[in-house]
Amino acid sequence: MAKGEQKASARLYYEIVDGKIKLKNKKCPKCGSVMAHHMKPRERWSCGRCGYTEFAGKSKA
Ligand SMILES: [Zn+2]
Repeated sequence: MAKGEQKASARLYYEIVDGKIKLKNKKCPKCGSVMAHHMKPRERWSCGRCGYTEFAGKSKA
Protein backbone atom coordinates (compact mmCIF):
# COMPACT_ATOMS: atom_id res chain seq x y z
CA MET A 1 0.00 0.00 0.00
CA ALA A 2 1.47 3.36 -1.01
CA LYS A 3 1.99 5.72 1.91
CA GLY A 4 1.71 8.81 -0.31
CA GLU A 5 -1.62 7.76 -1.76
CA GLN A 6 -3.80 9.28 0.93
CA LYS A 7 -1.84 12.52 0.94
CA ALA A 8 -2.01 12.81 -2.84
CA SER A 9 -5.76 12.30 -2.96
CA ALA A 10 -6.38 14.81 -0.18
CA ARG A 11 -5.44 17.69 -2.43
CA LEU A 12 -8.29 16.73 -4.72
CA TYR A 13 -10.76 17.54 -2.00
CA TYR A 14 -10.06 21.24 -2.17
CA GLU A 15 -9.41 23.82 -4.79
CA ILE A 16 -7.60 27.12 -4.30
CA VAL A 17 -9.70 29.93 -5.71
CA ASP A 18 -8.44 33.50 -5.26
CA GLY A 19 -6.31 32.38 -2.34
CA LYS A 20 -9.22 30.71 -0.60
CA ILE A 21 -9.77 27.05 -0.08
CA LYS A 22 -12.93 25.89 -1.75
CA LEU A 23 -14.51 22.55 -1.07
CA LYS A 24 -14.60 20.81 -4.38
CA ASN A 25 -16.08 17.50 -3.50
CA LYS A 26 -19.55 16.27 -3.17
CA LYS A 27 -20.77 14.09 -0.38
CA CYS A 28 -21.78 10.55 -1.06
CA PRO A 29 -25.59 10.18 -1.19
CA LYS A 30 -25.25 6.65 0.07
CA CYS A 31 -22.95 6.88 3.07
CA GLY A 32 -22.35 10.64 3.46
CA SER A 33 -18.59 10.36 3.08
CA VAL A 34 -16.70 13.01 1.10
CA MET A 35 -16.27 11.90 -2.46
CA ALA A 36 -12.98 12.19 -4.34
CA HIS A 37 -12.95 14.17 -7.56
CA HIS A 38 -11.36 12.72 -10.67
CA MET A 39 -10.90 14.33 -14.06
CA LYS A 40 -9.68 11.33 -16.03
CA PRO A 41 -10.78 9.46 -17.96
CA ARG A 42 -14.04 11.26 -17.28
CA GLU A 43 -14.91 13.88 -14.71
CA ARG A 44 -16.51 12.10 -11.84
CA TRP A 45 -16.80 11.84 -8.12
CA SER A 46 -16.17 8.56 -6.45
CA CYS A 47 -16.74 7.49 -2.88
CA GLY A 48 -13.76 5.75 -1.36
CA ARG A 49 -15.91 4.26 1.36
CA CYS A 50 -18.72 2.50 -0.49
CA GLY A 51 -17.52 2.80 -4.07
CA TYR A 52 -20.41 4.93 -5.32
CA THR A 53 -19.47 6.87 -8.47
CA GLU A 54 -21.24 9.85 -9.95
CA PHE A 55 -20.30 11.31 -13.31
CA ALA A 56 -20.27 15.05 -13.79
CA GLY A 57 -22.70 16.62 -16.20
CA LYS A 58 -25.19 14.87 -18.37
CA SER A 59 -24.66 13.18 -21.66
CA LYS A 60 -25.49 15.43 -24.55
CA ALA A 61 -28.27 14.03 -26.63
ZN1 LIG B 1 -20.25 6.28 -0.12
